[in-house]
Amino acid sequence: MQSTKLHFAQALTPDGWREGVTVTVGLDGMIETVVQAASGEGATQISGIAVPAMPNVHSHAHQRFMLGLAERAGPGVDSFWTWREAMYGFAHRLSPDDLEAVAAQLYVEMLKAGFSVVGEFQYLHHQPDGTPYSDPAEMSLRCLAAAGQAGIGITILPTLYAFGGFGGQTPVEGQRRFINDADGFLNIFESLSIQARGHLLRRTGISPHSLRAVTPDLLARVISGIPEDAPIHIHVAEQVKEVEDCLAFSGLRPVQMLLREFALSSRWTAIHATHMTAQETAGLARSGAIAGLCPTTEANLGDGIFPAVSYLQEGGAIAIGSDSHITVSPAEDLRMLEYSQRLRDLTRNALAGGPGQSTGRRLFEAALGGGAQSMRQPVGAIAPGYRFDIAVLDSGHALLAGREGDAALDTWIFSGGNALVKDVFVAGGHVVKDRHHAHEETIARNFRSALRRLAT
Ligand code: ZN
Repeated sequence: MQSTKLHFAQALTPDGWREGVTVTVGLDGMIETVVQAASGEGATQISGIAVPAMPNVHSHAHQRFMLGLAERAGPGVDSFWTWREAMYGFAHRLSPDDLEAVAAQLYVEMLKAGFSVVGEFQYLHHQPDGTPYSDPAEMSLRCLAAAGQAGIGITILPTLYAFGGFGGQTPVEGQRRFINDADGFLNIFESLSIQARGHLLRRTGISPHSLRAVTPDLLARVISGIPEDAPIHIHVAEQVKEVEDCLAFSGLRPVQMLLREFALSSRWTAIHATHMTAQETAGLARSGAIAGLCPTTEANLGDGIFPAVSYLQEGGAIAIGSDSHITVSPAEDLRMLEYSQRLRDLTRNALAGGPGQSTGRRLFEAALGGGAQSMRQPVGAIAPGYRFDIAVLDSGHALLAGREGDAALDTWIFSGGNALVKDVFVAGGHVVKDRHHAHEETIARNFRSALRRLAT
């Protein structure tokens, strides 16, 4: 056995678009060499346009079960909070087998859309009555198993959830599957770390749910119990009510509180960070933390619009996540991010880097870099030392006729979406081949049975 050589007519490298690119991939799935203007002799030819696959930094896999079932008007004004009640109803009924079935299906869908790594923000820890499973890490372990079935990289982020609101309020009934104290939580983290150690596709971090669900003291205690390089993801300032409640409790806004209480850095990902003042926007951008944006979910839930124009001007790092999975598509999330700014500001190409620059390229590269950092995985570039996680756009698709480089990327992001993704590689493995995943039928069958079981 030796390294594999693959040849692409065109590829997006850190030096820009290059023609005739031969990539050598080691047995460990890492890129050894990238040769440009190569003949491709002795290499396997892969037709299409190669780009780094995208990290999906924010996932609640179980929410894929309820897509399409929360789009009917309730008796009053619907909001994030009424949606959350419906979501708790579904979450309450999910077994470990159900979670593994839905996560495996979701992860196959992610791969087929051009993602290669998922950040699983997993908070369904316990049995429906709140009793821990015999292995308290059971539900997160099922997510690792699902990622293994699909062949996707995963950064498992067990959620620290202790309270029902700011100031250590008692959790409500619908939250009993989520709740841990510091020691219980650190046990779960340790079990998962053992499973991830030395594994090519796995990393472990933590996800304090939000400033509603943890106190700064509890979070500081947990952070002191985990390795210094473990990533930390937290929901923050997603909803106006959350900002108001935080102000009422502490006199501070959520992002302001986060910046004041913790030394934010590139190990932190602030999920949503939708509602920020100009000072908070600049502060978050300069902290080195990543804003984990979930634009299609934020639109679906009526969260609000992230201040992306000013945040990027301040040099802020971004990543994208499909969160509730109302759609699963890097193209659609990047498109929604750009469109939200256009709709607010009545402009076009709001997030392009400057005159003549491609909007899609700027957002795609920003989300690759921030995503890799957020997931703590060596992905996001076609370059030596990175894992060979690649998406291949179908240059034979009618929409890409006569298009290459930035025009092809913009066509994928703004128009063609998932239909343009033909092949996906993870750590050198050809997991999506001509739009098919080797285990998609079995995984879909399990998913359908779980959906039917839950519908009764
Ligand atoms: Zn979330």
